Amino acid sequence: MSFKGAVLAAALWAGVLASQAAAVEAGSGSVSAIRAGRLVDPASGKVLTDQIILVQGGKILTRGGVDAVKIPPGAAVIDLSHSTVLPGLIDVHVHLTANPENGGPNGLTISTAREAVDGVANARRTLLAGFTSVRNVGAGGFADVALRDGINAGEVPGPRMQVSGPPLGATGGHADENLLPFQYHDKEEGVADGPWALRAKVRQNIKYGADVIKFMGSGGVLSHGDSVGGQQLSQEEMNAIVEEAHMWGRKVAVHDHGTEAIKAAIRAGADTIEHASLIDDEGIRMAKARGTWLDMDVYDDDYILSEGTKNGVEAASLEKERQVGRLQRENFEKAVRAGCKMGFATDAGVYPHGWNAKQFAVMVRWGMTPMQAIRAATVTSAELIEADDELGRLSPGYFADIVAVPGDPSSDISTTLDVRFVMKDGRIFKRP
Ligand SMILES: [Zn+2]
Repeated sequence: MSFKGAVLAAALWAGVLASQAAAVEAGSGSVSAIRAGRLVDPASGKVLTDQIILVQGGKILTRGGVDAVKIPPGAAVIDLSHSTVLPGLIDVHVHLTANPENGGPNGLTISTAREAVDGVANARRTLLAGFTSVRNVGAGGFADVALRDGINAGEVPGPRMQVSGPPLGATGGHADENLLPFQYHDKEEGVADGPWALRAKVRQNIKYGADVIKFMGSGGVLSHGDSVGGQQLSQEEMNAIVEEAHMWGRKVAVHDHGTEAIKAAIRAGADTIEHASLIDDEGIRMAKARGTWLDMDVYDDDYILSEGTKNGVEAASLEKERQVGRLQRENFEKAVRAGCKMGFATDAGVYPHGWNAKQFAVMVRWGMTPMQAIRAATVTSAELIEADDELGRLSPGYFADIVAVPGDPSSDISTTLDVRFVMKDGRIFKRP
């Protein structure tokens, strides 16, 4: 799915954001010029100095050194000469309609309508943290579809979204609601058993607006009563979901902590493995050989263990997190060393939205250079969501999704926590 439809939507921004002090409207024909003291070019892995970016109609018109690019008369000049400019950041695993304080039984009290409202607030937080594109992999009631459409229509400030709708999975598995006893006959929307029933769920999600299909291949940390590493769909069921989704032109993201479940999903032809906590050497070799993406959320362990109890997370879930957290980081380092394709994927919603950049430092502590971590959240994740011809670089023709931080993130990755300028589609949402 491309984000090209968002260009038209961007034209509708005028007026809508007038009440937001941070927002500045630039007419579609006028040119804005950004003076960048430093500019991170993730495509080349270089940090350039004294650059000018010209923006028009939501796209980057040109970019080059101050000697090479002339600022046209009348252009609105944005002075970021004391900052470092980067392409807008991309997080390929978020849940904008979920909040961390709704852990365990707390979650039973939240309607999907309320989740959509939460999503509006969380979309704005995420955008202001510098994340101008996200892939939302799992939401109830198609609240994610509504949120994406509201953002594209210019009614809600937020990142570009690819969305999955309800995740698919087995009865009693990670996609199901397992807290209520039998007499409530509760079953989550994406739950089905058997290849044909799961194919029907793929079709249903596409019918109601899914850009991507998400399924639960193994148990999860925050689900009641399952084992985090245990496989929950058969090889035959995984094959059916992937074949069906690909036939309809949708990529497949698989929640998989477990060693064998990861390999089954790779064998099925899944496109991205989420979490990949207990991946073994064979799994890493298979992912590398087949070009399967690994989306390892290596920050959220810290948050779940420190805040989980307060947020209603069950003791059994905290024990599962203790089992997989450290191992996931060790396996992340192995996968980095093996040269696997790895997106920037945080599971925001499990921890507070807008904290996405906290994961950069953990990625650097566990084997990536700062530039590799920045590449993961820009060019690399743009490729993962099949938007690398329009997102992830500050090149002519690309969307004018531009952020700025003080200092130089290629030497001090912690500066990514301090995003002071955010432009999306050529519109400014935050300025120093
Ligand atoms: Zn998730």
